[in-house]
This record gives sequence, structure tokens and C-alpha cells, in this order.
Amino acid sequence: MTVFVTSEETLKVITIDGPAGSGKSTVSRLLAHRLGWIYVTTGAIYRTLALMLFEAGTGVQDRGSIERFVAFLSERYRQDPRSGRVFLGDREITHEIRTPFVSEQASLVAQDELVRRRLLPVQRKVVLDCNGAVVDGRDMGTVVFPDAPLKIFLTASPEQRAQRRLDELRAQNLEPSLDELIREIHARDARDANRLVAPMRPAEDAVLLDSTELEPNAVVRAVLRLCVDRGLVPGLEES
Ligand code: C5P
Repeated sequence: MTVFVTSEETLKVITIDGPAGSGKSTVSRLLAHRLGWIYVTTGAIYRTLALMLFEAGTGVQDRGSIERFVAFLSERYRQDPRSGRVFLGDREITHEIRTPFVSEQASLVAQDELVRRRLLPVQRKVVLDCNGAVVDGRDMGTVVFPDAPLKIFLTASPEQRAQRRLDELRAQNLEPSLDELIREIHARDARDANRLVAPMRPAEDAVLLDSTELEPNAVVRAVLRLCVDRGLVPGLEES
């Protein structure tokens, strides 16, 4: 599958996979900004489908709804590559899809084989015709962009990841307890890592980075150095 090639036939996609709260989205956004590439967070696509199914009062057992909703989503879903705001048609769903309830529902929906199969082209489509893309998710390096020239698997300690989720939710005026978040993150990690279809795991050629003790900008600098080493971008000035 060819998604985007330069004259040197290099796929200009950097994949960043990892568990919830590992810092994927912050790092991906900063990195994309630094490179002048687009940023795509594929979790938002799973979250959107989960929200649609919930609002329709149905679930993954309703195969017809999956087919209809994915077709609709494929046409009407939009992620602003700069701000990260998410729209379904004219409706903005940026905050609605980030609640703990939708996180849980998304990881349940994401276990389903039909859902994953149907969302594959939707995820590939968003990077068509762009200069380059930084994509984050769980199976970017293993399934969606197996030919990507740089794959990162980002981790952090469970406590640090829960704290980051807490900060993110507080910014939305939500106040779950830290213990509750740690439990939620453990449950989601186990489901994502142990599902039969496209489980979360590092690609064989992925670079593993632990962000527990690192500021997002330090992770970005490390990834930029890898980009330069692999000839993906010319040498960049440090900032
Ligand atoms: O990355 P985020 O936390 O927004 O993803 C929400 C859920 O969507 C994850 O817990 C996971 O179950 C699912 N997901 C996935 N594959 C992806 C991205 C997200 O299974 N590529």
C-alpha cells in the first residue's frame, strides 16, 4: 500500500503508538508542528464511532449500524490538523469524545474485527495528499502504516500516565479521582494489549521511548534526531 511518497519513494509518515497517557498526542502535535506536517490522532476516530453507537442506543453487535456509521464517518469526519479540533459534519465533538465514558466505550468498540477492518481505509485516507504526517494510535506501526520509515512506541509509568489524564480532564472541569483513573487506564491497557485483532504492541522495527521522566519537548528532540539520522528531514536547528 502506498500512501504518500516523495521522489525518493519514502513514505512520509511517523507513527507514534503507545498506551493511554504516554504523551503520544502532545508529542505528535509538537513534532508535526516542528516539521510542518499534519497531525492525526486515530483514537479520535474510534472515539467518534463509539459516541455515534452510544447516541444511537446500539452497540457493536448491530453490524448494520457499524456499516452505516463508518460510511457516514468516512464522509463527514474531520480533524483540524492544526488545532486538533474534531468535527462530525457541522457538529464539533472535540470535548464530548474525550470523557472517561467515551474512552471506555472506544476501547470496547475497538476490539471488534469489523470495526477495525472498516476504519483502516478511513485512517489511511486522512494522510493522503499531505506533505507528511505524524499519526498516533495503538497499531499505526504494526497495521495501518507498516511501511512507515520511523516508528516510535512511547511508554510511561502507570502513575505518570494517570496523572497526565487527570490534568487533561481537570482542564475540562472534570474531577475524577486518581485511583479511579489508574483503574481505568489499567483496564484499557489490558483490553488494548490483549485483544485478538491488532493488539497494541511495538512494531518489530519500532524505537521504544520512555517519557516518564521526560518533558514533551525532550521527547520531540529525540524523535527529531531519529528523523535526521534516517534522512527523513534535513538537519534541523535545535530550538
Ligand atoms: O488514543 P486514545 O486514548 O484516544 O484511543 C481511545 C481508544 O481507541 C484506545 O483505548 C483504543 O482502544 C482505541 N484505539 C485503537 N487503535 C488505534 C487508536 C485507538 O484501538 N489506532
